[in-house]
Amino acid sequence: MVAKLPEEEHPKEAFGWAARDQSGVLSPFKFSRRATGEKDVSFKVLYCGMCHSDLHMVKNEWGNSIYPLVPGHEIVGVVTEVGSKVAKFKVGDKVGVGCMVGSCHSCDNCTNNLENYCPEMILTYNAKYYDGTITYGGYSDTMVADEHFIVRIPDNMPLDATAPLLCAGITVYSPLKYYGLDKPGLHVGVVGLGGLGHMAVKFAKAMGAKVTVISTSPNKKQEAIERLGADSFLVSRDQDQMKVATGTMDGIIDTVSAIHPLLPLLALLKSHGKLILVGAPEKPLELPAFALLMGRKVVGGSCIGGMKETQEMIDFAAKHGIKSDVEVISMDYVNTAMERMLKADVRYRFVIDIGNTIQCSS
Ligand SMILES: [Zn+2]
Ligand SMILES: [Zn+2]
Repeated sequence: MVAKLPEEEHPKEAFGWAARDQSGVLSPFKFSRRATGEKDVSFKVLYCGMCHSDLHMVKNEWGNSIYPLVPGHEIVGVVTEVGSKVAKFKVGDKVGVGCMVGSCHSCDNCTNNLENYCPEMILTYNAKYYDGTITYGGYSDTMVADEHFIVRIPDNMPLDATAPLLCAGITVYSPLKYYGLDKPGLHVGVVGLGGLGHMAVKFAKAMGAKVTVISTSPNKKQEAIERLGADSFLVSRDQDQMKVATGTMDGIIDTVSAIHPLLPLLALLKSHGKLILVGAPEKPLELPAFALLMGRKVVGGSCIGGMKETQEMIDFAAKHGIKSDVEVISMDYVNTAMERMLKADVRYRFVIDIGNTIQCSS
């Protein structure tokens, strides 16, 4: 059997930007989307956030990239068609798709609304869908997904600044909830002030925590406090500051994806404090056991969130006016944005204005 071309696999024409090889350079790409199945929701993509994992994926830095690769898993838009058995959505609704578009629906994780931990979870792009075709992400004009994996965006939320909540937002919201760091009056540290970190500050503040940003760069202090609403700021390289803060925190959300020492962070925790990793350094981190034993401390991890919790996070954000700080760009700026993202030169998330700037020049 000869494999079909991406534009002939499915009945619906689609257009996006794809990486063709590990240079990671994105360029216009014609492909196709499946017809709207009975439980599917199809939508016109209006905005798509750029996640750090997109950068890794286009360059095959995790070794599993399938080309052509259309990235994007912070996708929002307006519903254009729903299948006959779709119950929750109708044409015209504002919706989003995050990091996943499928799961088994029967394992322990799925039955507990934790599709994100399902062994058969299907990622929004660069994964094999049930029909054997490769999934394509949101750097494209249209999207289709099973309604189970569609999130409703409340009308009062701006779509551009909401897109990053679908990955960056849920990635920090879920551990704050699961590890019990969502109680008013707790002291929560946030390590790293990027796409994830700035969302962690906003969610933790809205949950009633006292929030301290921990960063290597002192020049982020003013911004952390004045722009994002953090209560205090610690320069992790400043021994004196770190010493004063010893044993003061109930939990820390660590968003750093570079190799870094955990010992100074564990020292900041009270007894029973929790250090939660949501970044993914390429090499193992050193785990200082003694610092865990003294004070019964915990190091944990967390990866996005289930669909129920993702909707809950969006609704919480709507209620508390939480948005991502974004720089909206046009589609043809995407390669420059990738380079800037690599240098952390963005406050705090690039969002592509797909609806107004993606064009198919046929
Ligand atoms: Zn992401
Ligand atoms: Zn499952």
